[in-house]
Amino acid sequence: MEKKFEEYARLLVEVGANIQKDQTLVISCPVDCAWFARLCAKAAYAAGCREVVMSWGDDQLAREKYLHAADGVFDTVPEWRVRFNTDYAREGAAVLHIGGSDPEILKGVDQDRMVRAARASGAAMKEYRQMQMSNAFPWAIGAIPVPSWAKKVFPGCPEDEAMEKLWNAILTSVRVTGDGRAVQRWKEHLDTLQVRIDKLNDLRLESLHYVNALGTDLTIRLPEDHVWGGGDGVSRAGIHFIANMPTEEIFTAPLKNGIDGVVYASMPLCLKGEVVDKFHFVIREGKIVEVHAETGEEKLRAETTLDEGASYFGEVALVPYDSPIRNQELLFYNTLFDENAACHLAFGEAYAECIKGGEDMSREELKARGLNDSITHVDFMVGTADLSITGRTRDGREVPVFVNGNFAL
Ligand code: ZN
Ligand code: ZN
Repeated sequence: MEKKFEEYARLLVEVGANIQKDQTLVISCPVDCAWFARLCAKAAYAAGCREVVMSWGDDQLAREKYLHAADGVFDTVPEWRVRFNTDYAREGAAVLHIGGSDPEILKGVDQDRMVRAARASGAAMKEYRQMQMSNAFPWAIGAIPVPSWAKKVFPGCPEDEAMEKLWNAILTSVRVTGDGRAVQRWKEHLDTLQVRIDKLNDLRLESLHYVNALGTDLTIRLPEDHVWGGGDGVSRAGIHFIANMPTEEIFTAPLKNGIDGVVYASMPLCLKGEVVDKFHFVIREGKIVEVHAETGEEKLRAETTLDEGASYFGEVALVPYDSPIRNQELLFYNTLFDENAACHLAFGEAYAECIKGGEDMSREELKARGLNDSITHVDFMVGTADLSITGRTRDGREVPVFVNGNFAL
């Protein structure tokens, strides 16, 4: 396993964040996973990194804070915390997020405190978020197991066994086998994604129509100069990076007011420390007008009403049902993995790169082109084995994009 851990750390640093000589790397990581952050730091320094700067987190302390801190704490974000993020971002530092947390760590905490904290951080971190959403600096997200998470994914397994199984599932998902060829496999994977991205971009679709037996019947219109992307992104300084590892999706942004119908989630969603399950939305002219969930409905409704844009959509992503993640037949209870197992949508903010020239546009210009703006961005899965997606071109042709859950292109 040692070899695999090192290969994974190297992959995240050299290919994900793609650290450059004399560039700063900011790593955010749970304290429980410090050993892995150290492996990443070693890999970064070996690649010529100027300095590794740490931002530690802790699940348990986050929970304690929501439960017991003074009430006013949730309405403000200290200036130094904002500066920490924006200063490094402006400098063009690379950012690596190492995730790994109990999917239900915040279950039962005061919803109002969470909503206020999200709004306060949304307002304070606006500049940083917009820089991230427009690829102003290179960033990457990876994850490693912690026992509470592993036990949720493999209930009934002893802790050691659950941890080992989750490690294997993660390493399989990111194509790390310990043979040192992960970088090569990622190169081939990105090439495969690019072929489909080019096909989708050539079609210049006007809309997509989703139908499946769960009850989804949804029409999504796309902005006139939308761009499909996926795999790697390019930062303002011209550095290629891979924001999510794994990534199997090809995505673009919908027209903010252009979605109508009903959409059913096909998998549970781990939303900010709580599981939301068996849910669907009714959408009219882009806006979520009804939220229904058998589990976690209050949590889901709170998230879709965080701000005006939270009840509109920001992302349309295509993932074949036969993806290497889905084929493991696992529910990860972690969006980084689960979103790569199925077609998904996201309500909230759209990525600037989803429109031609978008990375150089202001948020106002992006809005004028029909892209949504919000302090949140939540991916949820809608893909099933029987999902069909039919595209309609601007000259009125119908094109099968997905048939029986897989690409028809
Ligand atoms: Zn996505
Ligand atoms: Zn997303």
